[in-house]
Amino acid sequence: MRTAHCSLCGKPQPVTANPLKAQAATPGKLLRLVRGLSWAQLLHRPAPGKWSIHEIICHLADVEVANAWRYRKVLAEDEVGLTAWDQDRWAAGHQYRRQDLRLALEQFRSLRARNVALLRVVGRKGWARTATHQTFGRLSVGQIATHPVHHDADYAAQIERIRKVLKGREPGTRRSAGLRTPSERRVAASRG
Ligand SMILES: [Zn+2]
Repeated sequence: MRTAHCSLCGKPQPVTANPLKAQAATPGKLLRLVRGLSWAQLLHRPAPGKWSIHEIICHLADVEVANAWRYRKVLAEDEVGLTAWDQDRWAAGHQYRRQDLRLALEQFRSLRARNVALLRVVGRKGWARTATHQTFGRLSVGQIATHPVHHDADYAAQIERIRKVLKGREPGTRRSAGLRTPSERRVAASRG
């Protein structure tokens, strides 16, 4: 698989022939990944300081809000400056753990669909428009629209890993959530 460095975050990512097709597939994938999980499982943090599946989905929904604004600014205005935002402060400041997950999933689905439709309608000319990011410098709409592909994939993989551990702990499997090891019980108690 051919990889290239993402212009927005600098991470190496697989080259995607059709970023919009990949973007459009994520909401359905997320719905499949949360299916069958209890609220307690959705809120389970895999380690102290690590996001739960619930928090990851609220984050993805908020990234879509930020991207929606970015696409619209750069497509319509000249000399746009893009600023960074702090995802951990958003998660804490917006009370992700208390937010309605169904609303977050629904908002992500509808806003993603609308952003993909917008990016399709503006075509090559729109994709070539640029802005200046405070950290990453000059970025085109096309480069901004490519980052969500691996950002989605990274978080979907993270959800899959959490899901696998949670499913392995369910009753009927080798270990259940109620039969934690002594060290897990201590961690759970210390989190209170
Ligand atoms: Zn990236």
